[in-house]
Amino acid sequence: MQKTTPRNNSSKNDEKWMGRALAMALEASRRGEVPVGAVLVMDDMIIGEGGNSPIGLHDPTAHAEIIAIRNAAAALKNYRLPLTTLYVTLEPCIMCMGAILHARIDRLVYGASDPKSGAVSSVYTIGSDELLNHYLKITGNILEQTCSSLLKDFFKDRRKFQKNRGNDTI
Ligand code: ZN
Repeated sequence: MQKTTPRNNSSKNDEKWMGRALAMALEASRRGEVPVGAVLVMDDMIIGEGGNSPIGLHDPTAHAEIIAIRNAAAALKNYRLPLTTLYVTLEPCIMCMGAILHARIDRLVYGASDPKSGAVSSVYTIGSDELLNHYLKITGNILEQTCSSLLKDFFKDRRKFQKNRGNDTI
């Protein structure tokens, strides 16, 4: 009998969950937030998710990852989240990497790289530089193009809007 243990299954699921994170990012952009979304998954189930919300919540810490982690920890009634995978559309910042490590998340999967403030591989290498005890599994650039286009289009539209608004006031 054939056993169903496809080794490639993880990458297929990675795209599936990144698709969900993208939906959260889109939802954030509709609220005027920079479109970043995050989903925390355990045993192939969503246990927390969120879209970027610092502007709406007046909270500089309300990044998508933090919201997903808070929701998951509250749902599980546990401040540690081992055996979970966090999917996020943009390479996490320093603050979010700190939270990911504090939460003892097992694996991080991200979409687009963030050359300006990415703390996984772009600017800093938190989580893989062996300076801390917790070892984090990391997979980058899943659905990278879609994740990065969403951000680029958002900033392009915002610049256009600001330019038009500028012209109106003259
Ligand atoms: Zn962050």
